Amino acid sequence: MPETSVGFIGTGIMGAPLVGHLLRGGCRVIVHSRTRTKAGPLLAQGATWADSPAGAAAAVDVLFLMVTDTPDVEQVLFGQDGAALALKRGSVVVDLSTISPAGAREFSTRLAARGVAMLDAPVTGGDIGARNATLTIMVGGGAEALERVRPLLEMLGRRIVHVGPSGAGQALKACNQVLCAVNLMGVCEALLLARSAGISPGVVIDVLSAGAGGSWALANYGPRMSAGDMAPGFMVKLQQKDLRIVQEAGQASGVPMPATALAQQLFRAVESAAGGGDLGTQAMIMAYERLCVMAADPTRVTGMTA
Ligand code: NAP
Repeated sequence: MPETSVGFIGTGIMGAPLVGHLLRGGCRVIVHSRTRTKAGPLLAQGATWADSPAGAAAAVDVLFLMVTDTPDVEQVLFGQDGAALALKRGSVVVDLSTISPAGAREFSTRLAARGVAMLDAPVTGGDIGARNATLTIMVGGGAEALERVRPLLEMLGRRIVHVGPSGAGQALKACNQVLCAVNLMGVCEALLLARSAGISPGVVIDVLSAGAGGSWALANYGPRMSAGDMAPGFMVKLQQKDLRIVQEAGQASGVPMPATALAQQLFRAVESAAGGGDLGTQAMIMAYERLCVMAADPTRVTGMTA
């Protein structure tokens, strides 16, 4: 789709590299984000700045969103200087953010009343997938709108899957977040057990990644854990946002999710340290390490030194 003009709102860890792919793919990209400085490198690459969501939406046929949570999507679409009033009839909003399925359905209905199609299109593959354009994109919404934007999505990801009607992409993404959280607990426990047996993390990652116990979490977060690299990737506070969405879905449907609840509690322990919510999710290992200290020396927890 050479020379296509697209808007893009939200140039954080995920959004920024995706804008880069669209620029290299030949698109004109108009960007807006809450903190303008985060878009600076993209402007140097040829993107155009808009002062508001409406400014990013006014002259384009396709508007991407990659913001944080359900209220953020509502704000950029329907808040002050929101995109909804500026979008052309017949344009398509592609929401790459992870939000609640109910929110996705509601926003899609509100935009449809203005003649604008909306696809929920959350992604998986992490910051690495965004940088390498290898994301999996899970799409909910109309098939016709998806086919119109498919060439753009192919610049961002390796696998584009139409899951079903509006909200279905977000529903599948919630399932993905269950797997991410629970797999991560296994990685933490395996690495700590290996350490107690004198086996290095490098051996665990190298030998076990290709076996039945291997996972994306082990291959990608194991090395960061063993290097003590807690920089995000995917921030703990964002995973907590996602697990809240998961638990709401579980509650609404009556599906018990005890493992997800345990992961939430471990992440809460990480969040309780100053700045913990801004660390990458691999920081779950810090909660486990604190438990190991408690097991070895309970006085460190109670503060009692008998
Ligand atoms: P991030 O680095 O915090 O980026 C979000 C960006 O959106 C920030 O630049 C933020 O502005 C901007 N934003 C938020 N609310 C806004 C608003 N109301 N108006 C304008 N801009 C707004 O987070 P991220 O890691 O890129 O994640 C973005 C989305 O992708 C989230 O829904 C997340 O759950 C999902 N996701 C993330 C990953 C990952 O590995 N990181 C993987 C898959 C999916 P500020 O800079 O001012 O905060």
